[in-house]
Amino acid sequence: MKILVINAGSSSLKYQLIDMDNEQVMAKGLCERIGIEGSNLQHTNVAKDEKTKIEKPMKDHGDAIQMVIDALVDEKIGVIKSMDEIGAVGHRVVHGGEEFAGSCVITEAVMKALEKCTPLAPLHNPPNIIGIKACQKIMPNTPMVGVFDTAFHQTMPPKAYMYALPYEYYKNYGIRKYGFHGTSHKYVSQKAAEFLGKPAEDLKIVTCHLGNGSSITAVDGGKCIDTSMGFTPLDGVPMGTRTGSMDPAVVTYLINQKGMSAKDVDALMNKESGVSGVSGVSSDFRDLSAAAKEGNDRAQLALDMFSYQVKKDIGAYAAAMGGVDAVVFTAGVGENDAATRSAVVEGLDFMGIKINEDKNAARGTVDISADDATVKTLVIPTNEELMIAIDTKRLVENK
Ligand code: AMP
Repeated sequence: MKILVINAGSSSLKYQLIDMDNEQVMAKGLCERIGIEGSNLQHTNVAKDEKTKIEKPMKDHGDAIQMVIDALVDEKIGVIKSMDEIGAVGHRVVHGGEEFAGSCVITEAVMKALEKCTPLAPLHNPPNIIGIKACQKIMPNTPMVGVFDTAFHQTMPPKAYMYALPYEYYKNYGIRKYGFHGTSHKYVSQKAAEFLGKPAEDLKIVTCHLGNGSSITAVDGGKCIDTSMGFTPLDGVPMGTRTGSMDPAVVTYLINQKGMSAKDVDALMNKESGVSGVSGVSSDFRDLSAAAKEGNDRAQLALDMFSYQVKKDIGAYAAAMGGVDAVVFTAGVGENDAATRSAVVEGLDFMGIKINEDKNAARGTVDISADDATVKTLVIPTNEELMIAIDTKRLVENK
């Protein structure tokens, strides 16, 4: 079965067509500037390793999906003969609230429930919903599945997801920890179990998704029991441009004492902070490492703050699970930045976490643990699109 994976943003749409017989990507690409002047589609035919850029106005996501389908079936740049070869479409949806504890086949009832989740992710869910509707219009007979960033974290117990606000704030407004990057945490924790040759049910794993956005998750017996992102993806460790956790009184201080508006504080915390704000250099860890090597103290401080908070979460989650069998690094920083991995695990040998620096220099799926480590430290490239396709296939076949 061939599965089309769609990740629709407000003015962009990413896609991959995956052949699930061999889990190979056949084509992938990106529509940019949807609804804005200069819209274009960047399409890659993976087998031929051929990239094509098509500039054409796309007034909405419907136009974008149509262009994607046209590219996929095109004689020259395409990879299939007809749209009918697409067995199902898997849609990434950011927020499933408490409605969705797993991926699900999209029905009218599901669409209604999705709309209900919109206030929880006002920037992300609307384009996801628009993407689904656009696909349904163009491919009315193709089954669609929604895969939610929050779903994997729905197994957290109340003591982990509740905030200590008056209970009504949870009941009336849904204010609680939801967690994000769930598709990635699920994928790498499953891959880690496969790699270690043990059932996921027998393992306690801390997964560290470290990228432009970062989150850490405690996966006990294959299920999430806690995660570092919260009500929104602003919580947890410092990120590229996001603060991560801090005393919430900073927000009221800035509003009440410094006269900032709520909107300004929101932009400050989401877009101007994190390792970028601290360093004044960049949100990109490559730039930070280069600057720190040249003696930039603030770049070094930003890197130190980041690895310190990730290290603390590993310790906290080992405590929450009553032990840890494996620590997994994934995403842009986790997969590529050996120095950050090294800084994160430094000093954790007291709990059996110790890496071998030669192994740490390797790329791909790799065990970087030292021989005398009692906890495995693994690097596992994430693949959210494949996870979405796997869930989509499973649900469509079980329908
Ligand atoms: P992601 O959000 O998972 O796409 O991760 C993107 C981030 O990964 C970039 O902003 C960089 O900070 C980081 N990154 C990517 N490649 C490298 C690398 N080779 N070394 C260090 N950091 C990297």
